[in-house]
Amino acid sequence: DPRLQAIKAAIRVVPHFPKPGIMFNDITTLLLRPKVFKDAVEIFVDRYRDMNISAVAGVEARGFIFGTPLALALGAKFVPLRKPKKLPGEVISESYVLEYGTDSLEMHIGSVNRGERVIVIDDLVATGGTLCAAIKLLERVGADVIECACLIGLPKFKEDVSRETFTYKLVIQGC
Ligand code: IMP
Repeated sequence: DPRLQAIKAAIRVVPHFPKPGIMFNDITTLLLRPKVFKDAVEIFVDRYRDMNISAVAGVEARGFIFGTPLALALGAKFVPLRKPKKLPGEVISESYVLEYGTDSLEMHIGSVNRGERVIVIDDLVATGGTLCAAIKLLERVGADVIECACLIGLPKFKEDVSRETFTYKLVIQGC
């Protein structure tokens, strides 16, 4: 896909952020280029257009940026999966392990119904822990998680993918 090269080039890699030794993939530089941003969203739209998707679940915060235009284009609902204590209604919660410590994602009860066909979207997959928590949340309410989509897949994850328990598809291989 000729669009991928420009997408990759528009993602800035910032060394030693947020701490020494980390190479941070920064998608804010892509957002400054409307044509490239549009291409990125359209690649997702093209993939999911005919899959009868009824909900797009976006992981806070950067999953919201790509998930909302995708949901609108698909005519699907958008469901935010948020960090703890952000959602005001009744929630279910899933914890996941980070390099240092743990974090959780929460989802409003009633936002997704049993049997709904859902895709999960985030900017980047590294270990897959965040996506796993998102999938568990959705499966707990009986949703059918069709696929997970990210702009960026870190090389380590690509090697490990066959050992992951969930199906996922890296739609845009930004890295
Ligand atoms: P994982 O749970 O290890 O797969 O990490 C993925 C999560 O961490 C996603 O929600 C990403 O937004 C975030 N993340 C990890 N590394 C980066 C990065 O280099 N840039 C942007 N987000 C990152």
